[in-house]
Amino acid sequence: MTIDNIKEEINKAKSIVILTHENPDGDAIGSSLSLYLALKKLNKNVDVIIPKYSRIFNFLPGAKDIKKESNKKYDLAISLDCGNEKRLVGHEEYFETAKSKISIDHHGSNEMYADYNFVNPDAPACCQILIFIINLLHIEIDIDIGTCLLTGIITDTGGFQYKGVSAETFEFASFLLSIGVNVSDIYRRVLRTKTRANFELTKLVLNRMEFIENGKICYTYITLEDEKNVGAEEGDHEGLVDLGKDVEGTEVSIFIRETDKGYKASLRSNTYLNVSDVCLMFGGGGHPRAAGCTIQGSLENAKQKIINQVKMYLK
Ligand code: 5GP
Ligand code: MN
Repeated sequence: MTIDNIKEEINKAKSIVILTHENPDGDAIGSSLSLYLALKKLNKNVDVIIPKYSRIFNFLPGAKDIKKESNKKYDLAISLDCGNEKRLVGHEEYFETAKSKISIDHHGSNEMYADYNFVNPDAPACCQILIFIINLLHIEIDIDIGTCLLTGIITDTGGFQYKGVSAETFEFASFLLSIGVNVSDIYRRVLRTKTRANFELTKLVLNRMEFIENGKICYTYITLEDEKNVGAEEGDHEGLVDLGKDVEGTEVSIFIRETDKGYKASLRSNTYLNVSDVCLMFGGGGHPRAAGCTIQGSLENAKQKIINQVKMYLK
């Protein structure tokens, strides 16, 4: 069983590196730090390498230990919340050079790229899978580990809103509350608080929203220049794609962001349209209701390609 192998590999390894996907969100950072703190309790020599992340996560226990790079070679690399090796941007070398590789993830589009892959697409957050793994390793979940775990659950479920939230999710949340994790503080920090730059970008994307196909598709975008103008930092675009999703009649919200590697599209859907399938067509992936991909060319071109693809799946 994969899970037994994972336990064995972790127990065997002396040095471990934890990696996650580019543009790391709360689940990516929460997963990485919770496993980091847990493995420290097993006295492992463990590093978390995340080249760039939003400063809103600096409050998390262990965040000050996050490394941007390292010159070590590791016995074991663990990739968290990351569906393919290509998305380990900036730190794929640590993954490739590790003696053994594990992927723990909840993306249905996971490409099973590690030696041992533990993927559960039914889990609403990678952090929910980690609760199981940490228990399996007989490591006690304390307030610090719990704070990181709950951050991932709260961000990936939009605060327990999305499909995929199960009785188990609430049981975990209840357990975390019972050990003293401050739910309302995490909620306020990671879901409610907007940076000023994010607020300015919100105004721009709202003004630029276009409703297509009788309002079933909502489209908006930001450019590199917009981000420069508002002084945007890493992660300041988070949440912008959700704004269009909440307008009555919208099935799919499309948000395109210019990056130095092309046009990054983020898609969200409300009830039936599988945006992961749409994004897979462009080499991306994700979940049925939240997915992304990067398209080369011009903004207009990227917009048309995505919209045309979405239209094929609209009812
Ligand atoms: P977001 O739109 O917030 O960047 O990502 C939404 C979901 O899709 C996340 O679960 C994210 O991991 C996944 N995702 C976003 N972009 C890509 C991509 O280019 N490739 C893959 N495989 N998944 C992506
Ligand atoms: Mn996730």
